[in-house]
Amino acid sequence: MRDITLGKTGITVPQNAFGALPIQRVSVDEAVSLLRNAYDGGMRFFDTARAYTDSEEKVGKAFEGMRDKVFISSKTQATTKEKFEEDLNTTLTNLKTDYLDIYQLHCAAKCYNEEDDIYNCLVEAKKQGKVRHIGITAHKIGVAEDIVNSGLYETLQFPFSYLASDRDIALVKSCTEHDMGFIAMKGLSGGLLTDSKACMAFMSQYDVLPIWGIQKQNELDEWLSFFDNEVTLTEEIQAVIEKDRDELLGEFCRGCGYCMPCTVDIRINQCARMSQMIRRAPSENWLTDYWKEEMLKIDSCVECGLCKTRCPYELDIPNLLKKNLKDYKEILAGKPV
Ligand code: SF4
Ligand code: SF4
Repeated sequence: MRDITLGKTGITVPQNAFGALPIQRVSVDEAVSLLRNAYDGGMRFFDTARAYTDSEEKVGKAFEGMRDKVFISSKTQATTKEKFEEDLNTTLTNLKTDYLDIYQLHCAAKCYNEEDDIYNCLVEAKKQGKVRHIGITAHKIGVAEDIVNSGLYETLQFPFSYLASDRDIALVKSCTEHDMGFIAMKGLSGGLLTDSKACMAFMSQYDVLPIWGIQKQNELDEWLSFFDNEVTLTEEIQAVIEKDRDELLGEFCRGCGYCMPCTVDIRINQCARMSQMIRRAPSENWLTDYWKEEMLKIDSCVECGLCKTRCPYELDIPNLLKKNLKDYKEILAGKPV
């Protein structure tokens, strides 16, 4: 397993890290066991966030007494000095530590700079030693490019998978040129990609640190297996990637849910990608009465446009939903999937 150095932070860890968003959905004992097994299996970098409910507390419990053996990053969505301080203190308490390896502004709408209080809060926290390195997370490519060009941050966290565009790949290279660490989120593209070997092989070509969202031991086992059996981009894996890219590229929903809630309660993060899900998972799972009812809610969309203002990928959600519903109805009528 290759090591990755996150730019000027100097943090060097195996290119196989743990994204702690999904552990919100399991018990404390299960989460602690997963995190410790991840450490025992070779993972050294753990990414959490104040917004992930009790994820920080679970990470804190798992690594109590061994803080110096792991790297922990967290995030804040604060926009004021007061909230920033409150969030940082809560995070440190939850994690049972007095410092964070990286503290990131979460899902930034723009590149915050010296004219923004929130950026100065990060710099001050670093001066105080509560934060060793400052980072930022973004979902919009233009914002991410501004961040890299600003030279103000030590790491960028951005979605990156083998569905990446040329512009995304250029962003990774630009990060390297700016001696900035690139933390790759959504390496499975919100669950659309299912071949972990192909995902890992793709990442291994770039100077990025993937943080795989892990909720179950069998998922963890897959990622840990790559410590013993290193994967590289073989012709066979490249063929899997090309096939998926042909099927999935274009306007597609990553399932992140940032656009919700919908005014009329449409489950946008599933319904807007039904055409892909139904072809990639056993289709019966998506043809139940429950999903038929959820999909038919698309007909009640009032085109209020609220969801569009929230989607970081700037998708035309109402039209995407309609396309998915049309396809779904055709499948119900007998079209083969
Ligand atoms: S435009 Fe349609 S899908 Fe989007 S929030 Fe409004 S009602 Fe929901
Ligand atoms: S429509 Fe956009 S915001 Fe909503 S789930 Fe899909 S990618 Fe995320």
